[in-house]
Amino acid sequence: MTRQIIVGNWKMNGTSRDSLALVEALLAGLPATGPDIVTCPPFTQLALLADKLKGSPIALGAQDCHKDVSGAHTGDISPAMLTDLGVSYVILGHSERRQEHGELDETVREKAVAATKAGLTPIVCIGETEDQREAGEHFDTLGWQIKGSLPDNFSGILAYEPIWAIGTGRAATEDEIAETMKFLREELVRQFGEAGKTLRILYGGSVNAKNAASILSITDVAGALVGGASLNVEAFLSIIGAAS
Ligand code: PGA
Repeated sequence: MTRQIIVGNWKMNGTSRDSLALVEALLAGLPATGPDIVTCPPFTQLALLADKLKGSPIALGAQDCHKDVSGAHTGDISPAMLTDLGVSYVILGHSERRQEHGELDETVREKAVAATKAGLTPIVCIGETEDQREAGEHFDTLGWQIKGSLPDNFSGILAYEPIWAIGTGRAATEDEIAETMKFLREELVRQFGEAGKTLRILYGGSVNAKNAASILSITDVAGALVGGASLNVEAFLSIIGAAS
C-alpha cells in the first residue's frame, strides 16, 4: 500500500516565530516511520521553513500560486518562485479562495497546469455547500468541479472538502465520506480512464485527533487535509500517528 499523506494547511496564521516553534516541535515528535507529511504555511514563512525542513521528513507546500511564470500580477506568487524556495506541493482551489477571491474551476485548472509544469504537486480542492448536499446536488457539483478544475492528464492530488465541514468542528460522517469517495473514484475513472484508478483523494474538513483514525481507514481515503488541528502540535502528531 502506498503511504498516506497528511497535509497541514495553516491558512493565514502565525508569525515566523510561531511557525518555527511549531515545526521544531513537530520534528521532535515525529514517529520513526509513518505517512508522508506536508506543511503549508503562509507565503511569508516559506523561505524560513524551507531552511529548517531541508533533509527532514516534512515537505513544504504553499496555499496558492499564480498561473503565469512571471509578469505584471501585483501581489501574486508564481509556481517557479515556489520551487525556487524548495516548495514541492501547492494547495489550489481551496473553498476559501473560491469564495473570497472568486476563483472559478477554470482558474484552478490553469493554476494546476502551471504548477505541474513547474514541478509542483497540486492538491486541488473540491467540495459542496451545505445547501447543495441538502438538495441532493452534491454529486453533480463534485462531478462538475472535477471536470472543470482538473487538467487533462492530471497527476496531482484531489482533496474532497465539504464546505460545511471546514472549520466547523462537524466533519462529514464516515458513511458520507465513504459514499462520496466511491462516487469520486467512479467519476475519476469515468473522466480520466485508467489513470483515474490511482489518483489520490484526501478528505478535509474538521479532521482532528479524535476522528482521524476512523476517517483515514475509509476505503480510498489516501490521507487528510487538516486546517485548524494542524496548528496544534499534539493534535497534528496524533493525526500523523493515525495514518499509515
Ligand atoms: P479544518 O480546515 O480542518 O479547520 O476544517 C480544513 C481545510 O480548510 O483545509
